[in-house]
Amino acid sequence: MTEPGAPRTTADVAIVGSGFAGSLTALALRSIGRSVVLLERGSHPRFAIGESTTPLTNLLLEQLCDRYGLERVRALSKWGTWQATQPRIAAGLKRGFSFFHHEPGRSFRDDEDHRLQLLVGASPHDAIADTHWYRPDVDHFLVREAAQAGAEYLDQVELTAMHSHAGCALLQGRRDGAPLRVEARFVVDASGSGGFLPRVLGFDERPLQWLPRTQAIFTHFDGVERWDRTVGAGSAVAPPPFPVDDAALHHVFPGGWIWVLRFNNAITSAGAALTTPVASAIGIEAEGGWDRLLAGLPSVAQQFRRAHATRPFVHAPTLAFRAAHVVGPTWALLPSAAGFIDPLLSSGFPLTLLGILRLVRLLESDRWEGAGFARGLADYAAHTTRELDATEQLVAALYASMADFEQFKRLTLLYFAAASFSETARRLGNESAARGFLLCDDPVFGPEARACAAAAVANPRGAARQALLARIDRTIQAFDVAGLGDRRRRDWYPALAEDLLAAAPKLGASYAEMQQLLERCGFAPPPASP
Ligand SMILES: Cc1cc2nc3c(=O)[nH]c(=O)nc-3n(C[C@H](O)[C@H](O)[C@H](O)COP(=O)(O)OP(=O)(O)OC[C@H]3O[C@@H](n4cnc5c(N)ncnc54)[C@H](O)[C@@H]3O)c2cc1C
Repeated sequence: MTEPGAPRTTADVAIVGSGFAGSLTALALRSIGRSVVLLERGSHPRFAIGESTTPLTNLLLEQLCDRYGLERVRALSKWGTWQATQPRIAAGLKRGFSFFHHEPGRSFRDDEDHRLQLLVGASPHDAIADTHWYRPDVDHFLVREAAQAGAEYLDQVELTAMHSHAGCALLQGRRDGAPLRVEARFVVDASGSGGFLPRVLGFDERPLQWLPRTQAIFTHFDGVERWDRTVGAGSAVAPPPFPVDDAALHHVFPGGWIWVLRFNNAITSAGAALTTPVASAIGIEAEGGWDRLLAGLPSVAQQFRRAHATRPFVHAPTLAFRAAHVVGPTWALLPSAAGFIDPLLSSGFPLTLLGILRLVRLLESDRWEGAGFARGLADYAAHTTRELDATEQLVAALYASMADFEQFKRLTLLYFAAASFSETARRLGNESAARGFLLCDDPVFGPEARACAAAAVANPRGAARQALLARIDRTIQAFDVAGLGDRRRRDWYPALAEDLLAAAPKLGASYAEMQQLLERCGFAPPPASP
């Protein structure tokens, strides 16, 4: 099995893949004294996709950093501290989520009721805002931190096999043309869509249950105009709750959507996720596919009229995937290796961070064998599977509603209700109320959200559609901490302290506790400099 004389590396944990997830896992494990070898097939800096964070992502990052003493990394959890401490790591300012709906072939034009918009604020001002991660910089920073913390980092490795033997895992491959052999008590697959363990252990993909087949095309651009300059911001009545471009900007149309994420280094990340029929009709994979897509979306084409791709387009013929297995006796896939659904709800980072928190906590125990450890691993796998299922089902409902933007918006509010409720519960120290990503394990919200998603996928019309909208409203009500049920806001939802204060009882908190929370989080804007 092993080439005689091959150099051997041993560690408590071998981590395959040094994206943000692999490096963060390495950092957390190092802080509890585990020896770690971090194995990367490429080298840093390198392009990576998956850039947009959310309040829940950043809270989970803070929790991970607090638990494992990662102070320098913690600064990346907010725009303000990031800019103050790591200004050389490129990032984008994300104040919220901006959605605009387009009818193919027609220029974008909305009315005072914002029929074609949804703006959801994530933060009340820039200092505590979320960010887009310029992954070449962020991942390079994190891998350097991991190496500095004592993880043995080996890049340019080509791993070809893994065998389990006597409670240990043996990884085999090559590096610099020479055989490589790594022995570890546990292997974490952080290879993302690289699918290391599914490939070497030969397991099938788990079929998607709800989502249609989707494809993606994406790259980085320069020269992308701001959307608010392209079409004009706000209205005669009021400005939008945040600058719509300092956000994850979504252009939604039947059968797909485009993301636009601006960084502070003049680069903009943009790409499209499309159902296969739409992708095929455009010929998205062929030369000129992106231009043909924009030709059908005149206002988006206007936004990109001076844009140039700064690197080649990537075409992903299959965007979503699920692995058939998540754990084995000596190994686990991080959530990002166990599946990916869609960029639509920026779900990749929070799902992965939830997984890292759970897995590293399990690896804090001294016994990595026996029934207790096996149960822990099985729990980790079950959580990961349920959360990916919930994400897939909601995203499938959103794809089914892309031609009916009112329904799309209402379903999206299910996501925002669950995410803001979970975030606030966790910030209040009431983690047990934040039952799984998208509240999928909440006995009320979970089944109701699934029923709403199932109804949307069934393409309801007339009374059935009205009943679905009403059911979504009812589902959200008890969990709404962000004024999402207030129709008078006409789908512009700023991040307001008064909404959180009014919602305190829904979280079992007092008004005073909520006030303290808002103070702790810096919700009030910092004083203007003299
Ligand atoms: C088009 C698209 C857009 C997305 N947008 C968002 C978003 O806006 N927000 C969000 O939260 N999530 C998003 N995601 C999801 C996000 O990309 C992932 O959650 C995230 O990148 C996972 O990070 P990771 O470190 O696990 O994996 P990756 O970033 O994929 O890193 C994996 C690393 O493993 C290495 N590797 C792979 N195979 C091997 C091997 N055999 N041996 C050694 N090394 C290996 C790779 O070289 C790479 O460095 C998006 C995903 C896609 C596809």
